[in-house]
Amino acid sequence: MCDCQDTRPSKMQRIEGEASDDVKESHVAVDSSSAVSKPARSENAALQGAQPFSASRYADFLSNVSNFKIIESTLREGEQFANAFFDTETKIKIAKALDNFGVDCIELTSPAASEQSRKDCEAICKLGLKAKVITHIRCHMDDARIAVETGVDGVDVVMGTSKFLREYSHGKDMTYITKAAVEVINFVKSKGIEIRFSTEDSFRSDLVDLLSIYQVVDKVGVNRVGIADTVGVASPRQVYDLVRTLRGVVGCDIECHFHNDTGCAIANAYTALEAGATHVDTSVLGIGERNGIPSLGGFIARMYAADREFVMNKYNLKALREVEDIVADAVQVQVPFNNPVTGYCAFTHKAGIHAKAILANPSTYEIIKPEDFGMSRYVSIGHRLTGWNAVKSRAQQLGLDLTDEQVKAATNRIKVMADIKDQTMEDVDAVLHVFHRAIRNGQDVSRDTVFDKLFDQHVASRGPSAITEDGEN
Ligand SMILES: [Zn+2]
Repeated sequence: MCDCQDTRPSKMQRIEGEASDDVKESHVAVDSSSAVSKPARSENAALQGAQPFSASRYADFLSNVSNFKIIESTLREGEQFANAFFDTETKIKIAKALDNFGVDCIELTSPAASEQSRKDCEAICKLGLKAKVITHIRCHMDDARIAVETGVDGVDVVMGTSKFLREYSHGKDMTYITKAAVEVINFVKSKGIEIRFSTEDSFRSDLVDLLSIYQVVDKVGVNRVGIADTVGVASPRQVYDLVRTLRGVVGCDIECHFHNDTGCAIANAYTALEAGATHVDTSVLGIGERNGIPSLGGFIARMYAADREFVMNKYNLKALREVEDIVADAVQVQVPFNNPVTGYCAFTHKAGIHAKAILANPSTYEIIKPEDFGMSRYVSIGHRLTGWNAVKSRAQQLGLDLTDEQVKAATNRIKVMADIKDQTMEDVDAVLHVFHRAIRNGQDVSRDTVFDKLFDQHVASRGPSAITEDGEN
């Protein structure tokens, strides 16, 4: 079980976009619609132009950064996550949510794994999803015969080629491996079903062995070959070199599967696409064996930053959060605080100087538009780093008419209080209401005694309707 706590801060301001039920108490929402125009698709070109270090999509003819497919493996790799147990109902719910998001393929646990796995595979094939349903099997005729009977659109076969796997796992040599691969490929193709052949632990396999077997399976007509960094050892540069070399050897599609043991999974997936790979394996929240593979959300965020238009046209980005919530619930973990896009602080701005720029133009400190994913941005204001621009925005939201000088004075008061402890949104609002009332009544709120007395009075009267009774809201 995950023992992480949801430590959502409680002093923030929502800026724009749909209400999030996640961040409530003390983030200020700033309706920046007057300051910032709503994004449009055509804005993409301008955004790209404004980002000199964004992906140079047209620079490399090999690159598939703007033309890739997702093989979503939550229901295969994800089943290997420590906490995962998916009953049929949960599998169907996840498959439908992934289909709604728009993934290209949904990969399922081998039907040869257990009788229930076989039944679930058949049930998901019958759902009539837009996504292709594929299953992942050992490179063995027994497994292949069971797989083709389930109604799947494709079969992913895998065979270990590293010396570790050849010595300590299946004990087969390359001649045997090649013969077995060709037999399975020919059989699956004869049933009119797509087939991928992947090696396992590819980055610790002999390069000559790898290229030889890929060349053979390409010649017999496999639809895809796969590279798998089963142990998470590869660096982006190694990935680039291997995929680019492979691209020169085979004509079929290239799928990549990266484990995240050293935190490189998403970077490796992106680099593989740059080098000419066509398909990337993901799982929701990255769940899988050990610490898993590229998370669907993190990978999509990476690809959005490279080509927003392609990603927005192809995938239903607003469905990301739902599928993450379904999977988080099913495997009993929290969505991580720093998750790309959906982590609770993914669009939270704190420092005063950031808040000021965000209020003027969110692109100053954001490369992802939260509204594209149905999320909201927040400015945290109840802390010692706060700035008067964000506080002014909150005063305007509350309908309190204060001059810039008065807002600056209120901001100083918030900073003094926040030096003792972080202030909630309610505390910040109280300071603003006190300032507004004092100024309206001609009281000198800059004096500590006056402020303290008014603040105590406000807090004492603060009930559910206190603000309304003041007639200020
Ligand atoms: Zn894996």
